[in-house]
Amino acid sequence: PPDVEALGRSTWTFLHTLSASYPPQASPTQQSEMRQFLGLFSRLYPCWTCAEDFQEWMRSPGNEPRVSSRGEFGRWMCEAHNEVNRKMGKEVFEGSRGEERGRTGWKD
Ligand code: FAD
Repeated sequence: PPDVEALGRSTWTFLHTLSASYPPQASPTQQSEMRQFLGLFSRLYPCWTCAEDFQEWMRSPGNEPRVSSRGEFGRWMCEAHNEVNRKMGKEVFEGSRGEERGRTGWKD
């Protein structure tokens, strides 16, 4: 089975980098592609219990992906990560730090 911790760390690096590279203003096609990606990602993530909880969170009112712009998407991604942090009893980050991490990398 996959190492859920190592997989998670690598995946968050990928996801925050993805949101930091997103267009400042996304076209309808770009928004639609990102929604499709997130829908598939949340179904295929190879930690099945993680994936189930994450899908459920993403479907709840107010938590649907916000992909209109880099700023919105970065804040949404930080909220998503914070939701998992909260569930696991970890420290919760502020949105601005989440965006910073995606742009510049995060040194622990
Ligand atoms: P990580 O949470 O991996 O974060 C890495 C670094 O990112 C942190 O050290 C910190 O510097 C920074 N960071 C923290 N919060 C934020 C934020 N909000 N925004 C920006 N940067 C931040 N594990 C489980 O055991 N159960 C689960 O149900 C589960 N669900 C997951 C769902 C998803 C979609 C993903 C991607 C991962 C999931 N994980 C789950 C893995 C878990 O989130 C962690 O990746 C793993 O436990 C390793 O934690 P970590 O302390 O190294 O830090």
